Amino acid sequence: MATAIEIFKHLPKKNCGDCKFPTCLAFAMQLANNKAKLDDCPHLSEAGRNALASSSAPPIRLIKVGSGKNAVDMGDETELYRHDKRFFHPVAFALRIADDLGEDDLYKRLSYVRSLRFERVGQVLKMDLLELECRSGDADRFAAFVKKVASESELPLVLRTKDAAAMSAAANAIKEKRPLLHGADASNLKEMCVVAKSCACPLTVGADDLNGLADMVEAVRKEGVEDMVLDPRPSSLKELLERCTIIRRSAIRKTFRGLGYPIYLSIPAGRDGMLMASTAVMKYGSLLSFEELPASNALPLMVLRQNIYTDPQVPIQVKPDLYPVNNPGPDAPLLFTTNFSLTFFTVMSDLEKSKVPVWLQVVDTEGLSVLTAYSAGKLTSESVKNALQSTGALERSKKGTLVIPGMVARMAVKLNEATGLQIIVGPKESSGLPKFLRS
Ligand code: SF4
Repeated sequence: MATAIEIFKHLPKKNCGDCKFPTCLAFAMQLANNKAKLDDCPHLSEAGRNALASSSAPPIRLIKVGSGKNAVDMGDETELYRHDKRFFHPVAFALRIADDLGEDDLYKRLSYVRSLRFERVGQVLKMDLLELECRSGDADRFAAFVKKVASESELPLVLRTKDAAAMSAAANAIKEKRPLLHGADASNLKEMCVVAKSCACPLTVGADDLNGLADMVEAVRKEGVEDMVLDPRPSSLKELLERCTIIRRSAIRKTFRGLGYPIYLSIPAGRDGMLMASTAVMKYGSLLSFEELPASNALPLMVLRQNIYTDPQVPIQVKPDLYPVNNPGPDAPLLFTTNFSLTFFTVMSDLEKSKVPVWLQVVDTEGLSVLTAYSAGKLTSESVKNALQSTGALERSKKGTLVIPGMVARMAVKLNEATGLQIIVGPKESSGLPKFLRS
C-alpha cells in the first residue's frame, strides 16, 4: 500500500468533502490505512484512478475457489499479526482422493469427509474442499472421475496433476464449478496457463525456492493469468515456517506483488504432517491439502483454526434468551449466565449432563464472560432483572428462586432486592453444576 503522501499526489485536491472526509489529505490517510475506498472520491480522474488502483489493491490477492454457497475465499489478508486487527479468511482444509480408487472406496472416502464435522461454541467446523488427484495417468479416466465426484459432493474441488492434457479434460468438464488447478511449475508452465485461461480457473504455481516462485508468478502474469495460489513446497517444518513467513512479510510489509497471493501447502501423513499443519494454520497457510486426516487430528486443527480466525475484538455471542434444559416445568429452578458463547455452551453442556430440568436465562453482556462482565459493569442486578422480565422467565419458572454463578456471589443481596427472588449461590465453576443441582 502506498503512503498517504504518495496517494495524495494523485487526488483532485478540491477539498470538497464529498468523500465524507474534510480534505483530500485526510482521505489519503484513510485510504493508506485501508479505512476508505478509492470509489469514495467521485472526482478522481481516470489517470489518478489507474495510478492508485494498483497501490490500493489488497497486498494479498483474493482468490475464490468453487461457486455458490460453498465457495472458498482465500487471501485478501492485511495483517502480519492477528492482534493488529484480525485474520479474515480461515485457512481451508482439503482431503485428497485419487482417481484409481474403486467405486466403493470412493463412496467411503466421501462419506468420511462428510463425517469430519464438529460443532463447537455454536459454530460448525468441517472440511472445505476435496482435492482430486490423477494417479491413473489416464486423462479420460481422470475427467470422468472428476465429473462423478462433482456430481456427488457440493464441496469445491482442487484438481491435481502435472499433465496439462489431463488437467484440460478434467477442468473443462467442470469449469462452471471453478476448481483450483494444482500442478503448474517450471516443467509445464505455459501449457497449464493455457488451461487456466481457457476455463477461467485459478492456478497453483509451485517452485522449490522463493526467488524461483516469484519469477514464475511474473511469467504466469505475462501469460494472462492473474488468479494464482503459491505452492512453496516446503519439505520440513522449518522450511514451512520460513517460507510462509517470508511470503507474508514480503506481501504485507513490502507490498511485493510477486508473492502477494494465498499459500497452498501439501501436508504429508503422520506426526510431522500434524506439526506442519498446525504451524500452517497459525502462520499463513491459506489451503492445506491432506494426504490423510484422521478425525483425532482434524478436530484439534479445526479448533485451532477457529481460535486463530475469530475476531479478537468481537467475542462470539449467543442470543440472549430463556433456554429450557432437560424439559423443565413451572417447578424447575431458574439459573442465569452470560451470552459469551464459550460460557454458554459450557454451562449448557453441564446442565444437560445433570439431567435435572432447569430454565437458563442468558443475559446480554455483549459477549463477555461472567466475571469480566461483572467487572465491566455489564452484568448488574438491573440487567439480570430486565433480562428476566423481557423473556417472561418468572411466568415459566414459578419456584421463586434464582441460582446465580458462584463467581458473582456478591450480587446476591442486590439481586434479591431487585427481583424479590430467593437467591441461591451456585458453584464457582460450571463443572460443579451437575452435583450441585442433583443435591
Ligand atoms: Fe478530495 Fe475527492 Fe474527498 Fe473531494 S471527494 S475531498 S476531491 S478526496
